[in-house]
Amino acid sequence: MMDRTQLKENDLKYIVHTYNRYDIVIDHAEGAVLTDVNGRKYYDLCSGYGANSLGYGNDAWLEAVTAQLHKVQHTSNLYYSEPGVMLAEKLVKRSGLSKVWFANSGGEANEAAIKTARKYGNTLADHRKNTIISLKKSFHGRTIATVTATGLAEAQEVFAPLAPGFIHAEVDNIAQLEELTAKYDPCAFLMELVQGEGGVHALDRAFVSAAAGLCKDKDILFIDDEVQAGIGRTGTLFAFEQYDIIPDIVSFAKGIGAGLPIGGIICSPKTCDVLVPGDHGSTFGMNPVACAGACVVLDTLDEAFLETLRAKAARLRSALSDMKSVSGLDGLGMMVGIDLKDMSGNEAVSRLMEEGALAIPAQDRLRLLPPLTISDAELDGAIAVLKKVLD
Ligand SMILES: *Cc1c(COP(=O)(O)O)cnc(C)c1O
Repeated sequence: MMDRTQLKENDLKYIVHTYNRYDIVIDHAEGAVLTDVNGRKYYDLCSGYGANSLGYGNDAWLEAVTAQLHKVQHTSNLYYSEPGVMLAEKLVKRSGLSKVWFANSGGEANEAAIKTARKYGNTLADHRKNTIISLKKSFHGRTIATVTATGLAEAQEVFAPLAPGFIHAEVDNIAQLEELTAKYDPCAFLMELVQGEGGVHALDRAFVSAAAGLCKDKDILFIDDEVQAGIGRTGTLFAFEQYDIIPDIVSFAKGIGAGLPIGGIICSPKTCDVLVPGDHGSTFGMNPVACAGACVVLDTLDEAFLETLRAKAARLRSALSDMKSVSGLDGLGMMVGIDLKDMSGNEAVSRLMEEGALAIPAQDRLRLLPPLTISDAELDGAIAVLKKVLD
């Protein structure tokens, strides 16, 4: 094995420098605990941005994935294949929506949502409309279209010209959303119900229900980006269940893969037949290995599991709210945004790392996205580490 210094040098030498990495070389992991090459252990409270939903070494997931690898690793979309169809059926039944389209990442899922919405608006019988309204502080991906939809204005201008037809509305401002809707006649709203990168902010219920009302009145599609908030993360399988709305398109990725790349959209009756052969595609979309693993994720997240998860999230939140440095909590369930009194999110992440827990910042907040399978004992251990830094 390469030594640590050599590894870091070669990373800088051979990999385009788009990431500033923390000074940790992960070697292996089990449950909710990561071990680095020096044998140091860390509670994983970010689970790869929520991607490792089942933690590490989950037997059922490993078995499904390896069994599928031995059968056939990839088929392409030229032929029928069982794991993807089984996964789509589960997603449709659990969401109450109609059909699924598969991609490999969140950005690609949102691209599919945007293309569906654009085609829907451009082919209406009475008039064409194709503007999409997303929110400030939102994050939707890194492709040219999704980076344009993203409302965190970080260095986007260097990629000009960006995609036309995107407008950003203020978070939780109903009056302004109504104004922009009247002015731009959008084909869709694109929102994260719990904004992840923007600071783990759960949108105001009145705002979301006003937006859904506008969608109904003016034939606007509600695209719900659940790439980070979906698949159990907020305590329900989908975040929209807690907002009393039915989206026209839900995008998913991260947690459903449990560590393998997969994403996609779930479409309502209104949007499920918009795309037709030739409109869209993805070589690895519906990859059977990723889909076989994702079936295990959905089977694991049954109602009993979700109820236990909600109790664990409540326990974590209550422990955090008693800590002296914590001035506020946001987000839902196991998607936790923490306002800190006397340190930045970045400082808290460094301090936690020294004490043996991995977390991530979200703007000026501290963000926790533990594996959904974190055990009670691991949660106790993690809370003890959080206390050392935040209390
Ligand atoms: C991570 C994320 C994306 C982008 O997903 P990738 O898999 O990195 O392309 C899109 N939307 C939200 C809400 C995300 O958190």
